[in-house]
Amino acid sequence: MLNIGCHLSVSKGYENMGKEALALGGNTFQFFTRNPRGGKAKEIDKSDADALLILMKNNNFAKVLAHAPYTLNPCSKDERTREFAFETMTDDLRRMEYLPGNMYNFHPGSHVGQGVEKGIEMISSLLNNALSEDMTTTVLLETMAGKGSEVGSRFEELREIIDRVELSDKLGVCLDTCHVFDGGYDIKNDLDGVLTEFDKVIGLSRLKALHLNDSKNPLGSHKDRHEKIGDGYIGLEAFGRIVTHPVLSALPCYLETPNDNEGYAREIALLKSF
Ligand code: FE
Ligand code: FE
Ligand code: ZN
Repeated sequence: MLNIGCHLSVSKGYENMGKEALALGGNTFQFFTRNPRGGKAKEIDKSDADALLILMKNNNFAKVLAHAPYTLNPCSKDERTREFAFETMTDDLRRMEYLPGNMYNFHPGSHVGQGVEKGIEMISSLLNNALSEDMTTTVLLETMAGKGSEVGSRFEELREIIDRVELSDKLGVCLDTCHVFDGGYDIKNDLDGVLTEFDKVIGLSRLKALHLNDSKNPLGSHKDRHEKIGDGYIGLEAFGRIVTHPVLSALPCYLETPNDNEGYAREIALLKSF
């Protein structure tokens, strides 16, 4: 059975996101830990988090995925922005313990002209400061499209970050189909080749989640513009191969396509039909 859900708004509360996911035909979901452009997060209502955990258990949910705000940039030139990244991630990871054993995804960052190596160094330094032995959350580095000075559009860069983190058993990777395609990995015509490359460079045991998005732009265009499933350059057939691939079919999948809830329900049903 495909484990699939979509991005939902956290403003309705935790248990309500679980109910919404079920209503859309899913058994998981993704949410922003706070306003995606940053800012203070609402303190977590423990009874609401507990209610979600019960709902997840009763409905065979796959792990849910919390997404860090886009403004979290561990390799900014600006020291205050790097501090914000540390404070935000630490606070998010503390609050994630209300939902023990789930996952937290972040964009590795943009080096803004300082160079990829410097970026990798700063990102791993953030992780070395933010991860703790006793946390139960798995932190996922998202594969990026390579827009601007984004770090993490090459598998090698993610591997280098992971290698420099002491508690690397807490780390995994979330593969975003739009981003890797934009990054030049041809998951449309050579899915097996891309997965072999991922395994060689990072190791498939690190692959913990998929963001399912079609792309408004052709292979290698480094644009990061998501499209509805089947309406973009990746195409429906390729998504059929992705969700049924023996290496991928057990992973939780999260849609981040430009849709309202009706559109999400349609895409969930479509992908489950494979
Ligand atoms: Fe993302
Ligand atoms: Fe994504
Ligand atoms: Zn994206």
